Amino acid sequence: MRFETTIAGSLPKPPWLAEPERLWPTWRLEGSELLAAQHDAVRVSLFEEEHAGIDVVTDGEQARQHFVHGFAGALEGVDARQRARRGIRGDRYEADCPRIVGEVRRTRSIHAGEARFARAATARKLKFTLPGPMTIVDTLVDEFYGSRKDAAFACARALRVEIEELVALGVDVIQLDEPAFNVYFDEVDEWGIAALDEAFGDARCEKAVHVCYGYGVEANVAWKARLGEEWDQYAALFPMLDRSRADIVLMELAGSHVPPRVLDLLPNKAVAVGVIDVASDRIESAEDVRAVIEIARAHLPDERIKCTTNCGMAPMKRDVAYAKLRALGAGAALARTSA
Ligand code: ZN
Repeated sequence: MRFETTIAGSLPKPPWLAEPERLWPTWRLEGSELLAAQHDAVRVSLFEEEHAGIDVVTDGEQARQHFVHGFAGALEGVDARQRARRGIRGDRYEADCPRIVGEVRRTRSIHAGEARFARAATARKLKFTLPGPMTIVDTLVDEFYGSRKDAAFACARALRVEIEELVALGVDVIQLDEPAFNVYFDEVDEWGIAALDEAFGDARCEKAVHVCYGYGVEANVAWKARLGEEWDQYAALFPMLDRSRADIVLMELAGSHVPPRVLDLLPNKAVAVGVIDVASDRIESAEDVRAVIEIARAHLPDERIKCTTNCGMAPMKRDVAYAKLRALGAGAALARTSA
């Protein structure tokens, strides 16, 4: 299908599940009641995506407190209870992060239950998102390896086993989120792409990678203001991503200062273009969305263009997020009507 639609991954959590409009919300329930509430929240997420016309759906990441910690906190060798404070993403944020205290290994299934539930709840193409190895390492405090590269490869091996299991459960698209790729270009070149490829392995699914300028939260808005009139990070990154095993690259475009010419730098990939701005509560019109798709069409053939949100919508207001989903679906449908 032309201009296939998806979302970066997360949707807001309902107020009966967790504190609203927070990046690190506290759960409202525990035990079996929490699990049942998470399942209900997944049903709401899938309902809203399907009714908005989203083609490749996610579970809205309703069962994880934070996009990195759902996976990383469940690994052996990671202590998620005694956290330590550090600056992450090149000191853009301070965060209380789990610590690597020993050899990192995946000793049990982590997201299989969530994937199984979502798979049974929708007939659409299902995408499952996981943090990429560099972003995991950039969100932990390493007290064991003494090398970001070694820690990342240990995480990549754990991801690879997890990905194989998720694909066996019927997940169609695996997406690794690597916001850290937009910060540490030398490391991406030296080992970041290799670690990403190690995580994907030869999994029999569509492989996507998401690199963005982050959620619309205060620390990011301040950082973006310092990036100047033209954000040229993708110009350095995309030639590296183009040689990775990823089939699809998700990028930010709507409402950003990303120059559209970077779309030319991924000749071997499908590109999921961000047509919805998550840093603004303004609801795009279908025409706004089509206009961004038309920018992409000036650089890419239709068959390599997909449509997505710029980033996750976890910290947004629910009604705003759902309205933006509908704009995404309607805008892609509108673009399909043009030759
Ligand atoms: Zn993002």
